[in-house]
Amino acid sequence: MVNACACGGAWMADDLGTRADADGLLHRVAGRCARCGAEREFQFAMPAEARAPGPVREINPTAEPSRAVDALQWLDLARFYLGRIDRLHAPAERAASLLDARLCLEETLKFFGPGDALPADAVWSDTGRKRLDADLAACTRSAVEAMLAKIPPARQLHRVDAPDQREFQKAVRTEAKRRVGRKWWQFWKHTP
Ligand SMILES: [Zn+2]
Repeated sequence: MVNACACGGAWMADDLGTRADADGLLHRVAGRCARCGAEREFQFAMPAEARAPGPVREINPTAEPSRAVDALQWLDLARFYLGRIDRLHAPAERAASLLDARLCLEETLKFFGPGDALPADAVWSDTGRKRLDADLAACTRSAVEAMLAKIPPARQLHRVDAPDQREFQKAVRTEAKRRVGRKWWQFWKHTP
């Protein structure tokens, strides 16, 4: 979603599957640009020690900054989740979007050093590098913290989001039952 093609087009994704070994999980996704047809493969490597299942909304439980998405892209994602809140009606949906925004802003914060300015090595994406200096200068630690201060605390949001969490776990259990005796991906065979 945030790593658009160099032409600006969005990727159509094709799942190439997941491989597990002693180092962890490797998930490969093939992308084909919807605009210019360019092809690119994305690889998502997850270290073995980070494989414990977490809550339905969790980005990166470690203190390490991301190496897949840069600081400005996390900020863009946070703005996306904040921008859609007015269009959402259910309180649980709003809480989920606020929670996603909060998690993205917390990821942005991980890139900062002791100062208020964003370090130069925190931006490496094609889209990020094309940003105006003014745009980069606006992304300060205090600006990100001010955005976070307007979002309700995570604990409160998790409470509103709890039905979604239960729904997610129920869906996982239902899916596991369906796999017995029937290939779970043959969804067209499931009669309502
Ligand atoms: Zn393209």
